[in-house]
Amino acid sequence: MTVTLFTDTDFKGGSQSFARNKSSLKDTKVGNNPSSIKITGGEPVLLFKKEDWKGGVLYVKGPKNVSNLGSKKAGGKSGFKNGITSLRRTPFDLDLNVTIVKNSKGEFPGDWNSSSTAEKAVLTIVNHVNRFYEDCGALLKLSVAHCTFRTDDNKFVVKRGGADYPASWKRSGEIDVVFVHDFKKVGTQAKSKPPGFGKSITVAAMADFVGGGSGARTTEELARSLAHELGHYCGIHHPSANNSKKNIMFKEGNGDSIFDRVISADQIEEMHTTLSKNVFRKGDR
Ligand SMILES: [Zn+2]
Repeated sequence: MTVTLFTDTDFKGGSQSFARNKSSLKDTKVGNNPSSIKITGGEPVLLFKKEDWKGGVLYVKGPKNVSNLGSKKAGGKSGFKNGITSLRRTPFDLDLNVTIVKNSKGEFPGDWNSSSTAEKAVLTIVNHVNRFYEDCGALLKLSVAHCTFRTDDNKFVVKRGGADYPASWKRSGEIDVVFVHDFKKVGTQAKSKPPGFGKSITVAAMADFVGGGSGARTTEELARSLAHELGHYCGIHHPSANNSKKNIMFKEGNGDSIFDRVISADQIEEMHTTLSKNVFRKGDR
């Protein structure tokens, strides 16, 4: 596939194709003021207003021709005609600082029965989310930077308002993700807030059934929760699902797998807009 930028609208003027990321378009043939784009092939591209993939974000998924990058009607976005300074074709890395909470009896969340089962499950969950991101062209890639077991009965089953963790559990420049056994409140499976709130993402390995009882959740279901909470963390919320049960940000889950869900181009763009302002986005070099 090729990605070609043009200095003028309607694919006119000087043009240049980009096979790789470009942290500054300044010294290219199109300079930092392209006005239209052609993408052949199905791959996604992020266009940024500032150098080093910062500032406003325009997400375009191919195959697509945008005759005027400043026009929403043409597939662009207000302010993006003659206003693009960097271009991204490969995913940004997000490092996760994972905590797996055990209780004082030595039990693990859900049906995990040893450290190695728990670690393996977490890696599987993260791989599922990465496959989902890749399938949807989200240009995001998760890595488990740290995985730590911590014993805490008060966090093994999280009580009302308890999804808050000591500073020693957190790492700057990484997204803190805590796997717990369950929430005391029936129906809650996961929680998170945008990064500004300084909160960790919490994912419970157990689900409460309608009519009582609970059971261990599958890795595909846990991956759905993690991707949903990462959505909140990166600034997208339930209304962005437009009430579609297939959307990753739909507010309820019914045991469904991450692979039953989708994420929209608008949601991907919004996540990258949030990420472009935060230090935990990696891969800038
Ligand atoms: Zn939610």
